[in-house]
Amino acid sequence: MLDIGDPLGAMLSLLMGAKMHYVFPPAPQVVVPVVGESAGFPVRRVYCVAANYSQHAIEVGGDGREPPAFFAKPADALVPGGGDVAYPSRTANLQHEVELVVAIGKRGSDIPADKALAHVFGYAVGIDLTRRDLQALAKEKGKPWEMSKASDQSAPISAVVPAAQCGHPVAGRIWLSVNGAVKQDGDLGQMTWNVAEVIANLSTYVALAEGDLIFTGTPAGVSTIVPGDVIECGIEALGKLSVKIV
Ligand code: MN
Repeated sequence: MLDIGDPLGAMLSLLMGAKMHYVFPPAPQVVVPVVGESAGFPVRRVYCVAANYSQHAIEVGGDGREPPAFFAKPADALVPGGGDVAYPSRTANLQHEVELVVAIGKRGSDIPADKALAHVFGYAVGIDLTRRDLQALAKEKGKPWEMSKASDQSAPISAVVPAAQCGHPVAGRIWLSVNGAVKQDGDLGQMTWNVAEVIANLSTYVALAEGDLIFTGTPAGVSTIVPGDVIECGIEALGKLSVKIV
């Protein structure tokens, strides 16, 4: 029993975990399916690289040569397997960004680029849904990006393909269509910072761990989407992802 006259003892008994109680049920673990496995990929954190393809960096106002910059989304913004995604509040300019997603399977800090791929469990196709009007305002005012990037359901993601099956793709088509019209059509080889370099750089800022996902940036061709739009996208060697904005 907790004794409020002995707060240290009460804390210790909680930490010892004899029987953990919560004031309400904890949120469920976010899980992304894994191709060819009955076991899922339990998500810890979701990181994203900003402007990692030079042509897209230029279309959103950069010079295409900046070092990698990172932001994050909450894990529960993921929409595993795609499907219906609710149009988010507070925007009049929702845009799609198809991205290669790296699924981390081994923890590490200050990971050298030449060792980085050993930390990869697998890869997926993801969409970084962006409230572009809020992002433009944040950039203009020098304010945080979170509310432009981390909206509910802002990260549809396909099942993870284990690297044991697909290898470590360094080239291959990455594309996205809206209602059948191709909008983004690039190649993984156009990434300014490749997967190994992204992992190396990000792991100097934060310790990476099993369950982390990294959205690695989008090729040129982002466009505005509205309710009713059907988005299909894919990466050669990984497969496809479909989303309907509702
Ligand atoms: Mn992005």
